[in-house]
Amino acid sequence: MLFGYSAQSLVYFSPEFLQLVQVVATQVGSAVKNAQLYEELRLLSLDLDRKVRERTAELERANEQLREVDRLKSEFLSVVAHEFRTPLTSICSFAEILLHYDTLDATQRRRFVEIINEEGQRLTRLISQVLDISRIESGKLELRLEYHDLRAIVAAAFQIAEPVAGRRGIRLCFDAPAALPPVYVDRDRVLQVITNLLSNAVQLSPPGETVRVAALPAGRPRYMMGIGAPEDLLDGVARGVDLFDCVLPTRLGRNGAVFTHAGKLNLRNAGLATRSGPIEDGCDCEACAEFSLGYLHHLFRCEELLGYRLASIHNLRFLVRLMAEAREAILAGSYDGFHEEFRSRYRPPDEQVRNEQRKRWREARSRWAAGAGTELQPAGESSERAAAEANEERMDGARPTGD
Ligand SMILES: [Zn+2]
Repeated sequence: MLFGYSAQSLVYFSPEFLQLVQVVATQVGSAVKNAQLYEELRLLSLDLDRKVRERTAELERANEQLREVDRLKSEFLSVVAHEFRTPLTSICSFAEILLHYDTLDATQRRRFVEIINEEGQRLTRLISQVLDISRIESGKLELRLEYHDLRAIVAAAFQIAEPVAGRRGIRLCFDAPAALPPVYVDRDRVLQVITNLLSNAVQLSPPGETVRVAALPAGRPRYMMGIGAPEDLLDGVARGVDLFDCVLPTRLGRNGAVFTHAGKLNLRNAGLATRSGPIEDGCDCEACAEFSLGYLHHLFRCEELLGYRLASIHNLRFLVRLMAEAREAILAGSYDGFHEEFRSRYRPPDEQVRNEQRKRWREARSRWAAGAGTELQPAGESSERAAAEANEERMDGARPTGD
């Protein structure tokens, strides 16, 4: 029996009333449960809607990329097909003439065979260029470095260029001492470079001109552009280069990487925050004379322009001092020892880190080119970017990882 209290007296509930209450309670319970389930279902369906929208957008983006790749592929194929067709047409036409016309004299026959040969070679070069591009893109281009006689390479380039030069009335002349030192190169690459230069010279010279290939006279300063890493500069000096020109030291500086005799140092490294010494002991640049590593680190953390400037000043001064040391070593006749000592102290770039970094930069560059962001560099000029592109590949772990 169920009973309860009212203010005045004890109240008894009849079994019928109790039954009614139970029925009502059960129904209220299921109504609440239903409402809860309905709400859950509504939330799930909202979530599902959102997920479907997201996935659809992803698919659309992927589709867009595929369409772009497809467009580039078609464009590439049409350019390649056009490039290939020109020499191929010449080869077929002249072969056909030789086959079907018996009235040709010996000179004409020889001339046509020469053209076929020349165009065949051009076609081979075009194909190897296309293969090179795909090899470069997959990072697999290998150089076959060996010692070669430069005269023989130039002679081969002359053979390729001579038919066109002859047609344009242009004389080719190789003006170099008989005894040139052997060069340590990939023969095909160098042949390609000389052939391209010759072909440009032949195309752009007025008829009757002489195109001259000459060795740089001994004693003239030798200039190498686009090389700015300390280890490369010293390699260049060892090979007889006198002048260098490169954006790398300032570019690296703006990215927080500074040169020291022990290798590159990244000013953004957290470990430098409490260092009170200069970038490098013994450096007389303004950055090292006035500021501690900890302060420079702070400037980079705050993206303060002064940091970029000080790091650039140090890098430039480092290279000037390095070249002065090299000069002294040359004068003292001890360059080889100096070079070797530098190499043994300078931290060699880690090949794996460099490759990974290269990949990331390449991706960052394409994102940047697509206008998706400007995270490539804190400051910089587009012309500089293009010029430093090759060198960018050289930088190891020193680059800030905005990309
Ligand atoms: Zn310094």
